[in-house]
This record gives sequence, structure tokens and C-alpha cells, in this order.
Amino acid sequence: MIPFLDLKAPHVELHDEVMEAIGRVVSSGWYVLGPEVDAFEADYAAYCEASHCVGMANGLDALHLALRAMGVGHGDEVIVPSNTYIATWLAVSQCGATPVAVEPVEATYNMDPGKIEAAITPRTKVILPVHLYGQPADIDPILDIARRHGLRVLEDGAQSHGARYKGRRIGSHGDAVAWSFYPGKNLGALGDAGAVTTDDSVLADRIRVLRNYGSRVKYVNEVQGYNSRLDPIQAAVLRVKLKHLDSWNSRRETIAGNYLHGLKDSGLILPVVPSWAQPAWHLFVVRSARRDELQAQLTSAGIGTLIHYPIPPHLQKAYETEGGAGVGHPIAERMAKEVISLPIGPHLSSAQTCRVIDGVLLHA
Ligand SMILES: *Cc1c(COP(=O)(O)O)cnc(C)c1O
Repeated sequence: MIPFLDLKAPHVELHDEVMEAIGRVVSSGWYVLGPEVDAFEADYAAYCEASHCVGMANGLDALHLALRAMGVGHGDEVIVPSNTYIATWLAVSQCGATPVAVEPVEATYNMDPGKIEAAITPRTKVILPVHLYGQPADIDPILDIARRHGLRVLEDGAQSHGARYKGRRIGSHGDAVAWSFYPGKNLGALGDAGAVTTDDSVLADRIRVLRNYGSRVKYVNEVQGYNSRLDPIQAAVLRVKLKHLDSWNSRRETIAGNYLHGLKDSGLILPVVPSWAQPAWHLFVVRSARRDELQAQLTSAGIGTLIHYPIPPHLQKAYETEGGAGVGHPIAERMAKEVISLPIGPHLSSAQTCRVIDGVLLHA
């Protein structure tokens, strides 16, 4: 069996370091925020080439509180991709605002900058691109549009830890980047965790206050905040794993290279990497008109695959009654029917990679 992703392997590899980190928190007597969270925030900000990092409870909260800190509220609109994980949309809805979907560029799966301006209205506050599958979105034209229209840019970095756009690490191109450290991400915790990185000290400060009950000084509450603090045990584990992220990402890059080479004549639509992009290869997504057959055949060959994502947000029951949900997004809808994610991860061996390629070629 080749699993889609081996979640246990990194913790077997780093067992002693991870246990030592957890033990340090257990014996510290400090179980909410504190030195371990501060240290991870400093490490991750430096890694992302950003001035500030605020640790949060999960990626959805990171998106939600970053939007709140940007002043998004009831009646506002936020431009989101039509093809993304539903968290991107939910964060907007949780502010009382409306997600307005823009379709992706077919080749890269990322938000099409050429379609953004048509979606801007007097209510638009923020553009929220996602670096989907670990491929950086084309952020410069998006920043340009935002500047011209007086909008903020929040990036959803949940799949792009370590990716680079035009040589610079994802982390502070836009006004802020929201991160998830859900276990299956390139940098994953042993449970839920998230963060926001930004160069904007005012935004960082607002998010810090929002995540901690709207409080800066204990029992003094300046706004109606939330409880969304990064857990110190997760922070300690993330500090250990962060040191290995670059080597794990480069292993992913090797696997992606093998797939791109091995599957070039397969007839499948393969990922396209623009010259300015250095992806984090969170997922290796291919497209086939006979996707369901391919998945069934790989499953019977013992090869794990997943669909990211089978139902676009606007077709979810959760968005049935929302404005904009009645509008079709044909590119996202077609992608949902055709995409399939092959196994990729730092602990997938070369032999396993070859078996996946053979399995796909046999049935393509
Ligand atoms: C994982 C993910 C999120 C949400 O992260 P959680 O930590 O699970 O809340 C948001 N956006 C995208 C694109 C994701 O992949």
C-alpha cells in the first residue's frame, strides 16, 4: 500500500526531538501563550521573511481574525477564488461579509488577476488569493489592482509553507498571510494550529489583541475578541519541524520532478510552474476527463489518492442561500470533476514514486 500521505513518518524521524520539546512544555508550568509561542513566532517570522508572526489556534481563525483586523465587517465584500478549500470563504462569511468568487487561470489553478477588476464593487474591502496546492499565485498584478482601488490583500498561505514568488518567500507580499499548521500541511502540528505573518505592525497588534479576548492587559478588554491562541505544545513541536521544512520541501520538489518527467506522455494535464514560481509542492494535482476511473484503478493498485476538492464552495449546501451562490463558476466546476491528487510527501520513497508513475501509465 502507498498511502496518500504518511503523517507518522516525520514524527518517527524526529521522535526524540519532538518528545523533548513536548516534555519542555510539560515541565515549564506555562500552558497558554508564553515563551514557547513567542519563540515559534520569532522563528516563523524569520523563516517567512516577515516582520511579525502571530500564532493562532488554526488556519480558519487566522484568516478570520486577519480580515477582522483589516476592518472587514457586515455588508462588505471580499474577493476569493472560486476553487479553494471552503475555509477561505467561511472566514469571510464569519465577518458578516460576502465572498465574491473569481475564477482561476486554468494552467495554474490560481486566481486570475485579469478577472479581478470586474468583481470589484464599492463594497469590496479585501482581495484574498490562495496559493493553491503550494503554487504561488501571481501576486504582483493582484497588489497592483489592490493599490489602484484602495483595497487590502490577505493571502491564504495554508498550502504554501516555504514557497517563493520571484525569489522571495511567501509571508509578506500582501498586507498579511494566514497560515494553517493542520497536521497534513507541509509544516504541520500534532493537532490544530495556525498563524498570521505580516510586515504591518498595526495589523499584527490588532490580531494579537483579537486572538486573546480583545485583551492586551489581563482583565482589560478593549474589543470583543476571540479565544484563538496557538497552543504552546504545538508551538514547541512546530519549532522542531520548522528546522526540517526546507529539506522536506526539496524532497517534495524531487518527487514532483519525477512525476512531471514520468507522466509527460500520460495524456494527463500536469501542473505548470511559471518562471517566477518556486512551489512548495503541497499537492501534486493532475487532471483527467476520466478522473473517477483513474482513481478507482489506482485504489485497486493500492495507491492512495484524494480529490482537492470534489465540490466547489458555491455549490456546497452551506452556501445554498447566500448571494452569489446562484452564479455558476464553470472553470471551478470542471476542475472539481477532473482533478486528482497523487501521493506526495517528504517520506514517499523513490521506489514508491516509480510505482505511482507505473500505476498511472498503466491506466491512463
Ligand atoms: C487547510 C486550509 C485552511 C484551513 O486551515 P485549518 O487549520 O484547518 O483551519 C484554509 N485554507 C486552505 C487553502 C487550506 O488548505
